[in-house]
Amino acid sequence: MYATTPSQSTTNGHTAVMSKSRASVEVRSFCPSIFCFTDEIVARRVNDKVWLLADETTDQAWLMMGEQPTCPHCGTTLLTTARA
Ligand SMILES: [Zn+2]
Repeated sequence: MYATTPSQSTTNGHTAVMSKSRASVEVRSFCPSIFCFTDEIVARRVNDKVWLLADETTDQAWLMMGEQPTCPHCGTTLLTTARA
């Protein structure tokens, strides 16, 4: 029986390997839901459909698929605080 282990390991804090030279865009976002305790989420675009979300206050990170980053706690589409 062969179990193929995914090459991705679970992300603990800031262990995600991302080359800084790739200049990924960092977007400061927040959850608009009043029922959610999420404060600020930093969203980095990994590619067209994948976002790396990081909560700097709790030191957690998530990989999220989608056109737009959504709140890792409640699933609401995040709003950006920065103006492009
Ligand atoms: Zn939320």
